[in-house]
Amino acid sequence: MSEFTPQRFRQQADDALHDEVLRSALRRATGLFGDRRKAAIAEVPEWEALRERGRVIKENVLFHLDRYLEQFESNARRQGIQVHWARDAKEACDLIVDLAASAGARTVVKSKSMTTEEVHLNAALERAEIDPVETDLGEWIIQLAGEVPSHIIVPAIHKTKAQIAELFTEKVGLAPTDDEKKLTECARGILRSCFVTADVGISGANFCIAETGSILLVENEGNIRMTTSLPRVHIALAGIEKVIPTIDDLAVFLRLLPRSGTGQHLTTYQSLISGPRRTGDEEGPEEVHIVLLDNGRSAMLREHVTRQSLACIRCGACLNACPVYQQIGGHAYGSVYPGPIGAVITPQLQGAKKASQLPYASSLCGACREVCPVKIDIPELLLHLRSCIADKSPVPGAPNDIPSRPWPERAGFRVWAWWWSGPKRYALSSWIAGAVMRRPWLRWLLPVGGWTASRDLRTPATRSFRALWRDSLAEERDNDA
Ligand code: SF4
Repeated sequence: MSEFTPQRFRQQADDALHDEVLRSALRRATGLFGDRRKAAIAEVPEWEALRERGRVIKENVLFHLDRYLEQFESNARRQGIQVHWARDAKEACDLIVDLAASAGARTVVKSKSMTTEEVHLNAALERAEIDPVETDLGEWIIQLAGEVPSHIIVPAIHKTKAQIAELFTEKVGLAPTDDEKKLTECARGILRSCFVTADVGISGANFCIAETGSILLVENEGNIRMTTSLPRVHIALAGIEKVIPTIDDLAVFLRLLPRSGTGQHLTTYQSLISGPRRTGDEEGPEEVHIVLLDNGRSAMLREHVTRQSLACIRCGACLNACPVYQQIGGHAYGSVYPGPIGAVITPQLQGAKKASQLPYASSLCGACREVCPVKIDIPELLLHLRSCIADKSPVPGAPNDIPSRPWPERAGFRVWAWWWSGPKRYALSSWIAGAVMRRPWLRWLLPVGGWTASRDLRTPATRSFRALWRDSLAEERDNDA
């Protein structure tokens, strides 16, 4: 994949806007998940209190992350899990490739993990001639298509059934069919033989529990359970922010996550992994490794505003609610983390130069904040990142590589700030704007740029708010007199 740039974002967003098949698939899927979420949370009268509890747990854990990580490491080791630390994506990939190679792996089975996507683990495994097989159905589909996920929890959300059927015919030789059952059976048959032959299973981790040193994984397909229990070696890759203090905290997140993500009360499977197979166990890996990844996260901890990005439990609800994501889908963002949460974490992980357009890919409507189960203030983060980009100040966690805005733009904004700081100057400019906007043939004079390319500019009321206010004060004075 060539390097992502702000220009590419605009091009990809534009392509997506002209792709009717993509837009109808997105409309259907995001609408369905949004409706299911609403129905699921309507059954929980204490939903707001639960969200607040989730927010407080995450805030506390992120504030004392060093302490909880050490507690997790020591308890995990006590359980026989081998804990490794990776400062960045390269270290994580090198570690996992080495572990897989020492296990003699030629094929590894993988369960869905955004963190492995973030570090581009599949490419690193392939370079070492180890074949990674995605076992989540959606991930397997996009692996066959040679694409990257376009949604955090529904990787193939952008594909229609007809496109998937065509892909199966082309890549695995399935006779043409539009029968969902046949498509699933075909995938299941191929994947089952991979589970049996793979030497290593690689997963992510939804939560790492400091109190017990265990990891928890949630899923609906059963592939995670097979990935983590059938191969001889299990390797989990988790961002350092996945730690939660106690097993009781799981009760909060297991209610928040599935309801927000898929609108389920609970996912079909929850796997709590507390070490390798013990004497007398019928199944389970002989070795369990967990790789704890930083990759820019500890820099995000420095400020409150950016720290909250790490509270994300990857439910995907903000993607489904976002009017921008609903129109352009995930690929336009050029990041494994699309949508509102992607727009705030990608510039912090990849650098603001490459992703400087993403914080602007939002109307700031606040729908993401409203649905977020841990109350992340994404609009606040978007504004913070926009101001970092505009001021060319460092984005925490990212290389300080923000290009300066062109000088005429910077000068223009300075003049504008000065002009609107004075009440008389502000009144004059709003009077001029109102006069121009009421005369359509003069509207081209307004510096609204691309704003009106896809929107109407509404004609302002004949009397401004300031005039009405003045009148009402005068009226009050007359009444008092
Ligand atoms: S930011 Fe909130 S809504 Fe979006 S994926 Fe993360 S937890 Fe879910």
